[in-house]
Amino acid sequence: MPQEDPAQIWMQCLSIIKDMIHHRTFDTWFKPTKGYNLTQDTFTIQVPSQFFLDWLEEHHNDRIKQVLVRQLGREVFIDFRISKDQQTITPVHTRPVFYMPSVSQQRPQIGEMENKLYDDYTFDHFVVGECNEYAHAASLAVVKSPGQSTFNPLVIYGGVGLGKTHLTQAIAHESIKQGTIDRFRYVSSEKFYNEFIESIQEKKTKEFAQTYRNVDMLLVDDIQFFCKGQKTATQEEFFHTFDVLRQNGKQIVLTSDRIPKELSGLEERLISRFEWGLLADIRPPDFETRVAILQKKAEKDGVSIAPDVIAFVADQFTSNIRELEGAVLSLLAYSSLSQCDISIDVAREVLNNKIQRKKRDINIEDIKRAVAKYYTLPLEVLSAKTRRKEIVLARQVAMYLSRKILGEPLKEIGSKFGGRDHTTVIHACQVIENMLIRDHKIQSTLDQIKRSIK
Ligand code: ADP
Ligand code: MG
Repeated sequence: MPQEDPAQIWMQCLSIIKDMIHHRTFDTWFKPTKGYNLTQDTFTIQVPSQFFLDWLEEHHNDRIKQVLVRQLGREVFIDFRISKDQQTITPVHTRPVFYMPSVSQQRPQIGEMENKLYDDYTFDHFVVGECNEYAHAASLAVVKSPGQSTFNPLVIYGGVGLGKTHLTQAIAHESIKQGTIDRFRYVSSEKFYNEFIESIQEKKTKEFAQTYRNVDMLLVDDIQFFCKGQKTATQEEFFHTFDVLRQNGKQIVLTSDRIPKELSGLEERLISRFEWGLLADIRPPDFETRVAILQKKAEKDGVSIAPDVIAFVADQFTSNIRELEGAVLSLLAYSSLSQCDISIDVAREVLNNKIQRKKRDINIEDIKRAVAKYYTLPLEVLSAKTRRKEIVLARQVAMYLSRKILGEPLKEIGSKFGGRDHTTVIHACQVIENMLIRDHKIQSTLDQIKRSIK
């Protein structure tokens, strides 16, 4: 068989797709993609960000598949990979469609100071409301006099998508800008862990310690990650880092998805140290704050969204700022592609999927429960290793429904089924889709399960 070059095949596909869709759609969503890899059964497309991945999957999957099958002469699964070489790919938006946080996955060298902050995670872009005003004030205090014992460490805690990362990065940005510190290090706790492990393997623990102890401010995002699994050595290392920094009057900023004392799996002595400083929570935003955030986002992107549409969106997405942003993003993308203004009706239509999903408010666990009940299996087997035929089918059905009903990312679904890989989820969906073509019984099975969810 001749060598199949994924890049070239994808170029050919693109030239076909180009004629099938509006050129603006093509320029926006397809131009920045590349053919990355091809195996016997999977074609991997490289995209610049998670946002592209979600968008292509949601809106263009069928088209991509159709063209690929035609080019290759065989069925393949489509997989996506978020590009590591951001600089070679520039999103080609004809007008600024919101910012896209670039996902930098390059592994830094041990000892190298690599502090990736998002440009726009600054105080200027942070809307203050009742929900976050305490955390905001605490952050400003830290910027003003880093290292002061009353707010050392500063621990910002709260649910997903409420602005912890934004605020933490704003502290780093602003402290540098105001010159209250010279050197800082910002990492996720996962990165701290990875680098630490790597330093052990490469016998460079001294360098590791140096890197982390030689700063004026250390910011560690999402410390709840330290609790999972056996991370005793990492916690130990972090403990010492913490003490050295604090003794030297250096500032520590941490974020967590819950209050430290509820971080089970974290050593007592760490928890008590976290309580030495200042604990600041961030709560879900109230209506006024949500409106203010939406207005700010629109303003930043130089687009105007009518007040009634803003109020409509603020009313629908209540618990999480990332969701709010996702909604605005969809609206802006829609209006820039269709070149029509956004009315409430348009907003309702564009956001329908998201709103419906929220209304139903079901999650993967609900689906798993319904599937287990239908097949009269114990719930746990869906996440277990077993490959017994009837269990495999039930598991595939549950994965398929999680994808179809909730539209959850593949990786997320995989992790909820006993930590399986995203390719397993792709495969499960494919199997059920193939069955749907040939076997009428499966449709009624799916319908029955869907009706019984919640
Ligand atoms: P977390 O780290 O708590 O999960 P993030 O800091 O990543 O949340 O925030 C999610 C998104 O919401 C980010 O894009 C962030 O810029 C935005 N955001 C969060 N809080 C605010 C705020 N108060 N004002 C403006 N944007 C915000
Ligand atoms: Mg975060």
